[in-house]
Amino acid sequence: MKYDCIIIGAGPAGMTAALYAARANLKTLLLERGIPGGQMNNTAEVENYPGFDSILGPDLALKMYDGINQFGVEHGYGNVVEVKDHQDYKEVITDDATYEAKVVIIATGCEHRNLEVPGEAEYSGRGVSYCAVCDGAFFRNKKLIVVGGGDSAVEEAIYLTQFADEVKIVHRRDALRAQKIIQDRAFANEKISFIWDSVVEEIKGDDQKVTGVQIKNVKTGETYEEAADGVFIYVGLIPLTQAFTSLGITDDAGWIVTDERMQTKIPGLLACGDARQKHLRQITTAVGDGGIAGQQAYQYIEENK
Ligand code: FAD
Ligand code: NAP
Repeated sequence: MKYDCIIIGAGPAGMTAALYAARANLKTLLLERGIPGGQMNNTAEVENYPGFDSILGPDLALKMYDGINQFGVEHGYGNVVEVKDHQDYKEVITDDATYEAKVVIIATGCEHRNLEVPGEAEYSGRGVSYCAVCDGAFFRNKKLIVVGGGDSAVEEAIYLTQFADEVKIVHRRDALRAQKIIQDRAFANEKISFIWDSVVEEIKGDDQKVTGVQIKNVKTGETYEEAADGVFIYVGLIPLTQAFTSLGITDDAGWIVTDERMQTKIPGLLACGDARQKHLRQITTAVGDGGIAGQQAYQYIEENK
């Protein structure tokens, strides 16, 4: 068999798993369908990754990527659509190739959830965005709406104030979910204001771009229009695990269930990072999971020789 270990997804979890597997001398293939780095590529400042006071997400991604190459990880481009379990080996099927390995580690992470309101799809890329790092600079001296109350919404709203004149955070409750330190920074930022207990019902625009949003106060039922040049949506995450649901390793919401060694219920099939059912989705926890999964891949192969 050509590979001992195939890892699907080159975010922080997959890259760390690859580092540990290759360093344990496993013949390792890291498959990725996009740019290595995963969600780190859409993150501005990362200041909760030990060793760096602050680092841009894409820079951290590049450092991790450079770091794993010294141990001979093989890189492959591919969108994985299925994994087949043959007990003593697994088949990994992409859009245009099939690979085999003794162990497979799933590290496919997750993606943003859509708001699913009228105008969202229509104005996506024309004022509607899910990535402040990618699109923030297009909104110099503009008015922005950010939807959501978690870490992503509040942190990215702060990031957007370096470009925009005004950022209004629309949150469906009257208390944020974001970490306290992030909340405090937002409350202290003069460019940020909050529209509490409210939801965006519709994104409005002309024939070219976004011009505003229709807001509804969920407590009073009042609706009104708020002018805006852009709408950044951060209303949570959905797991990228559709390719694995037929294996019966996911919970009802699609998150992969593992034990603390990152083992799914299928021997030799591991999962790590944000795609797992877990409490805290962060770069540090993805990296921790990845280390455990890479080491477990080695142990599984040793025990099944
Ligand atoms: P991901 O980073 O999601 O990587 C998964 C990879 O798998 C992707 O590259 C994807 O292309 C690939 N993939 C998916 N499906 C397939 C497939 N079928 N075939 C092949 N490849 C596939 N965390 C922090 O600790 N600090 C922060 O400041 C921070 N800021 C954030 C800001 C934002 C806006 C967001 C969205 C997240 C932030 N996070 C932050 C969370 C952090 O980025 C994630 O927890 C972390 O990236 C998860 O790593 P992962 O490797 O599990 O998954
Ligand atoms: P999240 O924590 O799930 O927060 C989603 C937010 O969107 C919540 O405030 C939620 O409201 C709101 N929401 C959900 N559905 C909605 C809807 N249909 N309409 C309006 N609002 C809706 O997601 P996240 O902020 O993207 O964070 C995801 C993970 O990444 C977390 O684990 C987070 O800690 C991590 N992350 C970390 C950092 C960091 O450490 N600096 C930065 C970014 C992200 P409710 O609060 O009412 O549920």
